[in-house]
Amino acid sequence: MAERYDVVVIGSGPAGLTAAHAAARQGVRVGLVDAQALPGGQVWRHDVRFSAPAFARRCMQATLEHIKIDWLPQTRVVGAEPGRLLVEDPRSARWLKYGALVLATGAREVLLPFPGWTLPGVTGAGGLQALAKQGWPLAGKRVVVAGSGPLLLAAAATARRHGARVLAVFEQAERAAMLRFTRGLWRWPARVLQAAALRTQLAGVPYHFGSVVTAAQGEDALREIEVSGPHRQRRIACDQLAVGFGLAPNVELARMLGCQLEAEGAQQRVRVDARQHTSVPTVYAAGEVCGIGGRDSALIEGAIAGLAATGARTGIASLQRRRAQARAFARQLRETFAIGERVRALAQPDTLVCRCEDVTLGALDAHVDARGAKLATRCGMGPCQGRICATALAELGRAAGIAARPPLFPARLESLALAPADGVAPSLAT
Ligand SMILES: Cc1cc2nc3c(=O)[nH]c(=O)nc-3n(C[C@H](O)[C@H](O)[C@H](O)COP(=O)(O)OP(=O)(O)OC[C@H]3O[C@@H](n4cnc5c(N)ncnc54)[C@H](O)[C@@H]3O)c2cc1C
Repeated sequence: MAERYDVVVIGSGPAGLTAAHAAARQGVRVGLVDAQALPGGQVWRHDVRFSAPAFARRCMQATLEHIKIDWLPQTRVVGAEPGRLLVEDPRSARWLKYGALVLATGAREVLLPFPGWTLPGVTGAGGLQALAKQGWPLAGKRVVVAGSGPLLLAAAATARRHGARVLAVFEQAERAAMLRFTRGLWRWPARVLQAAALRTQLAGVPYHFGSVVTAAQGEDALREIEVSGPHRQRRIACDQLAVGFGLAPNVELARMLGCQLEAEGAQQRVRVDARQHTSVPTVYAAGEVCGIGGRDSALIEGAIAGLAATGARTGIASLQRRRAQARAFARQLRETFAIGERVRALAQPDTLVCRCEDVTLGALDAHVDARGAKLATRCGMGPCQGRICATALAELGRAAGIAARPPLFPARLESLALAPADGVAPSLAT
């Protein structure tokens, strides 16, 4: 059975929340879909111990309580065709029809392989943050945070709030790049305050520039790490290493719908116009899926997309001006935290690249294209459908083009059966 909404919004992070709210205020019926049980996306992910900031709570409440919005939690989009989406929740699978669609599917962390990165105790930076918020015990644990980008500070602050002993933060960007970035920060006063607040929460935690974790070691679990800094190599004993190298847009659903993509460094993002309209009629996109821009861009773009999806003409121009400012900040971030060659050279021939299918970097040497690599090694064909390994390989400049195929996520047979039974999407079941 198919439900129909005037506007369907996929994702209840900052972009999806403001998109749904802006559309609903135009009087249309909105379905707000998210795979998670609770709204908030990545930045406002539910924390079992600490409540979200007041602004986030207001934003979530205003959207979920809006009379025109149906909130569909724990509902994953696993397939798509023009005008409708195949979704499954814990009880059933069904088609959702839409007049207009807003993709606010966010981003995921870029994890780059290095010796020992698959040991228990090693996670992404945002990954550790998510675990802590879901109740993973960190009290008293020795935690090191490493990689690149502002997410490292946020992850370290979350770990500390949850009782971890954060030993250090190692940032691969060089000191000179960071100084240039800091000197230009006066243009974004809110960001200065945000950074200052994080530094206060992390008082006493050393922050090292130009430093890379080159290996994680341990028998059954992480015991120590090796770090290469500007002046020396050192070993640090720790219980948990959180290491992430920025974010990559979640473009799989957009690609399945036929939306045009464009380069975002080594990754891809959805191409949109000034009204957040993609290349596909009736499909809009907002937030990190259109390029990594942070929470403020996501909020503004969501509002633009929500209005544009209803055909509204007013209220968009002022948002577009604010969007330009927020995106300019994102460009600065991208330049400052660009991944250096040292990081790209960390993986060795025997380092696992595809951890779903146990494929090493060396096993890919013989293959120049993604198809050959997939056929011979199964790289990218496991449950994550290349979300981790293809993202990493793109950064390493190897085997480009491994991409998720339908279904977008591992799906129940019941869901797959629904597709061909309708007679229009046999490809979903193949
Ligand atoms: C792991 C991680 C942690 C982060 N932590 C912070 C932080 O602490 N501070 C900060 O400023 N920024 C953080 N960020 C950056 C953050 O992504 C943005 O600032 C902001 O959350 C982007 O908002 P968004 O609405 O574009 O996407 P998101 O907030 O990522 O929301 C996207 C939503 O779409 C849903 N979704 C995706 N695909 C589907 C599908 N097929 N079916 C159903 N639902 C789907 C997801 O479940 C998710 O809830 C983090 C990013 C990541 C990846």
